[in-house]
Amino acid sequence: MTPTRVLVLNSGSSSVKYQLLDMRDGSRLAMGIVERIGEGSSRLRHTPLTTGEPREWTGAVADHEAALKAVAEELAKDGLGLDSPELAAIGHRVVHGGQRFTEPTVVDDKVLAEIERLIPVAPLHNPANLVGLRTARALRPDLPQVAVFDTAFHTTMPESAARYAIDVETADQHRIRRYGFHGTSHAYVSRATAKLLGRAPEDVNVIVLHLGNGASASAVRGGRCVDTSMGLTPLEGLVMGTRSGDVDPAVIFHLMRVGGMSTDEIDTLLNKRSGLVGLCGDNDMREIRRRIDEGDEQARLAFDIYIHRLKKYIGAYYAVLGTVDAIAFTAGVGENAAPVREAAIAGLEALGAAVDPALNAVRADGPRLISPADARVAVAVVPTDEELEIATQTYALVGKNSRAITGE
Ligand code: AMP
Repeated sequence: MTPTRVLVLNSGSSSVKYQLLDMRDGSRLAMGIVERIGEGSSRLRHTPLTTGEPREWTGAVADHEAALKAVAEELAKDGLGLDSPELAAIGHRVVHGGQRFTEPTVVDDKVLAEIERLIPVAPLHNPANLVGLRTARALRPDLPQVAVFDTAFHTTMPESAARYAIDVETADQHRIRRYGFHGTSHAYVSRATAKLLGRAPEDVNVIVLHLGNGASASAVRGGRCVDTSMGLTPLEGLVMGTRSGDVDPAVIFHLMRVGGMSTDEIDTLLNKRSGLVGLCGDNDMREIRRRIDEGDEQARLAFDIYIHRLKKYIGAYYAVLGTVDAIAFTAGVGENAAPVREAAIAGLEALGAAVDPALNAVRADGPRLISPADARVAVAVVPTDEELEIATQTYALVGKNSRAITGE
């Protein structure tokens, strides 16, 4: 029997999200999340998608190892256990792959050491990802574990886009450059957009707007990323739910010298108390729209600042790409917030982009066009699917390796 299942693990600092997929057709067999790991009242929600009802329990889950064991037990109850011969591999989301990892990679001791070496540039994410990798390896040492990096899709950026204009020696010494994030989503959505247009990814230029609680834009030329809005960390670029995106770096010196704030306080301010939440107290676009409808000026201004930044990036990526075939909206805000799409594209008619209000108002699950039929630039809503992309890349790599071994 050829194993066809892939378990996708997304290990965060206090949570593990997972999905089990069947790669014959990309269908989901089960999905779930363990939250508040290491806290007294951890919670596991498990949804078997082919059999049975969703299950949930709260209790103490001490660490990631205990969390993964709990996940394995839940899967086993549905006959989908980690010991199943049908499991081909485990695909792990790893946030930072630096310049070293340009592709999905089968994890061995050397790869783990490299991911560990990148902790200084991804102090929040890579340690949790590593714990997930090590734990899964210990549970199934014989199974290929594949790391799929959030930065990998962006490693095709030319140096002119990837470098900051700061002293080269200092930058190189501290590995300071623009890495970009959400790469799995940008890769998936840019390809799915080409498919929606009935064209090959190599033949289209796409601006992808991943607008979730975190948000980033990318310019994709012929399937390869040539620029993206996040940089050394996911703080740069667009206005996000709680992150400021671009600010003059001198704001930081000012807050230190004049505001008397510490480095950690400023870090928290810009990452957790800024963006939409900093501007109006809410980071959920639904709530912001509701407040705007009630005449709330603060919510209106937050929305306007969000849209203004978005427009600047769309304009910049038109200039970077030269010709644009499509603009694709994705993630929680991009897929659901029609007013954001309408406002972001408003006034771009001279650049060939427009939104048809009736199409924009349609709520649907799949990829769809929202631009008028005669528009030069297609505007699309393309739901992202990072788990499917991680599973696809994992399965392709494992398949390639096993063919190499068997000589097929
Ligand atoms: P994500 O990080 O992709 O899960 O996106 C989460 C964000 O999507 C939330 O913080 C909301 O701002 C936004 N969102 C989700 N559903 C809707 C909706 N129906 N309308 C507007 N915004 C939404």
